[in-house]
Amino acid sequence: MTKVDKKKLKKSKTATPVFPESVLKPVSNFLIARLHTLEKSKKKIIKEDPFMDVNRGSDNAASDIEADEQFGHARTSAISKELGKSIINIRKALARIKVGKYGICEECGQMIDTARLMAVPEAKFCASCAAKLEK
Ligand SMILES: [Zn+2]
Repeated sequence: MTKVDKKKLKKSKTATPVFPESVLKPVSNFLIARLHTLEKSKKKIIKEDPFMDVNRGSDNAASDIEADEQFGHARTSAISKELGKSIINIRKALARIKVGKYGICEECGQMIDTARLMAVPEAKFCASCAAKLEK
């Protein structure tokens, strides 16, 4: 192999994005829109948390109200945790789009199935790695 060939190979390996701009653009728009929606829902859910209510009286509250509040807090914190996870995943996906690594499995480096990306645009692992990691 000549020097020139090596150079060419190296260049084509790093410079080729996985997906063309025409595919990445709508994906990134979709992710940005979803990110905004999720951030809004997260803010809303945090407000719904009864523990966030500053007018909440803790001394003379009836016990059934306390239980309600406990439940409400558990529910809202679970939801906001889930939303937070999705927000992070979407931010990461957007970062991968920027560096031209979108659609590449973080575990094995293979391309993620387009069908999978359609269903889960923020997926960072291919289907088989995701299945392995979930175990
Ligand atoms: Zn993989």
